Amino acid sequence: MAALLLDGRALATRLEAQLADLISAGLAKAGRPPGLAVLRVGDDPASGVYVANKEKACGRIGALSFGAHLPANTPQAQLEAELRRLNADPAVDGILVQLPVPEGLDDRALLLALDPDKDADGLHPLNLGRLVRGEAGPRSCTPAGVMALLKTAEIPLSGARAVVVGRSILVGQPMALMLQQADATVTVAHSRTKDLVALTRQAELLVVAAGRPGLIGAEHVSPGTVVVDVGIHRRPEGGLCGDVRFAEVEPLAKAITPVPGGVGPMTVTMLLLNTVRAWARSHALAYPLPLL
Ligand code: NAP
Repeated sequence: MAALLLDGRALATRLEAQLADLISAGLAKAGRPPGLAVLRVGDDPASGVYVANKEKACGRIGALSFGAHLPANTPQAQLEAELRRLNADPAVDGILVQLPVPEGLDDRALLLALDPDKDADGLHPLNLGRLVRGEAGPRSCTPAGVMALLKTAEIPLSGARAVVVGRSILVGQPMALMLQQADATVTVAHSRTKDLVALTRQAELLVVAAGRPGLIGAEHVSPGTVVVDVGIHRRPEGGLCGDVRFAEVEPLAKAITPVPGGVGPMTVTMLLLNTVRAWARSHALAYPLPLL
């Protein structure tokens, strides 16, 4: 039997429609739409594509986007001052620093300069701490997008054996915490893990965020596993692929995310969700979306 496809593009479209409705319903009371500010530094071409996608997504739901694109040689102090200006701007509900920033800049200090309640990416240390404690706050977008996909597909998590491959602050660590909070029993694998195959074969849920194209194949997966592929890579011959060899793993899996069209679109939607939620909170509006 073919695996259930965890379709992030379809879910992102549905959630965006709900966000658009929520914004139009709250606009009169709030007096302004939600605003997302994206700070981009330097000319990394991939970042340019990501920022454009985020700005387009704001347009689709009726939020405003405020882009600031500064040259790579902008001094750290000027960037921090720009972030403080955005923190104080009442038209801005969410701010994100597009990572990576050019060499020589301190990305951790930039994240620390953000108002934690406007931290659209959920990466401020206070928000990571809130996640560890299970307290409300903006959540890291990529793992939050994975949770939304799993919840929507009604994948049982309580008591499930989950393996997360990757331990980055951006994906692996917050992913493991979110799965633990959903009562999964979580093991985190990384580049020093011995016998990855034996470990991943024990998983009922396997989330792969290793940044290694095609790392996970049929040998890593037991029949009936739910497989989430966070990896995203440009193939030399064109097109995108993930960390999972989809054609091999799909026939074994109970459910699987495609690349593209799985986790990627959900990341942008979670950024919008964090921003709209901050806007709704600051205007005492109802926020009936259960996914965050
Ligand atoms: P990262 O910072 O490079 O972290 C990769 C993690 O994988 C590290 O913890 C590393 O272990 C581990 N790892 C590397 N090789 C491994 C191996 N052979 N076996 C087991 N573990 C291994 O990457 P990231 O930022 O977490 O991103 C991971 C992937 O997700 C990338 O492909 C990235 O492009 C993609 N991504 C996608 C989205 C999206 O929206 N779809 C968002 C963010 C990231 P060590 O800690 O030991 O080095």
